[in-house]
Amino acid sequence: MSDTHDFDLFDPHRPVDRHLWSSRFPGGLQEEGHLLTEDLPRLAPERIELPDGLAWQMQYQKDQLVVSAQARVSLPCARCLQPLDLALATVRRYRLFDQASQADESLQMDDEEIQTLATEDQMSVAHLLEDEIMLLAADRPMHQDCQIVLPEQPRPDNPFAILAKLK
Ligand SMILES: [Zn+2]
Repeated sequence: MSDTHDFDLFDPHRPVDRHLWSSRFPGGLQEEGHLLTEDLPRLAPERIELPDGLAWQMQYQKDQLVVSAQARVSLPCARCLQPLDLALATVRRYRLFDQASQADESLQMDDEEIQTLATEDQMSVAHLLEDEIMLLAADRPMHQDCQIVLPEQPRPDNPFAILAKLK
């Protein structure tokens, strides 16, 4: 099977390659798909799951890539560590470059709404989607009305620390 034939099936796990894409898809490229928890290896160690998988769409045109995703994300509550369900709905725009240094230069001029992506960094669409989920977890979300009673940690000399925990 030739490489060209392989590429007919867009694989979100392949690195985004500005040079390859611009020569192969001069008219642009539009793809969509579905990923499961096990397709994104950074999720399991953080006990993050995608109960219904993740729906994604990508659109590439003239060095610009737009990646969007929708998913129900189940991750441990930062307080009680029990599963917490969140809805993920993101749209990110990227400008593609060959080298990270070019991307950095452009970043200083660009507005913050567009991120940069260098072929050199070997990022795949799947990796970018995984980043979105990891960002969600990095916010340390909690159940809105977390009911689990935690063991008391008496700190009589610091009432403010206790108050902060109750928030
Ligand atoms: Zn909780």
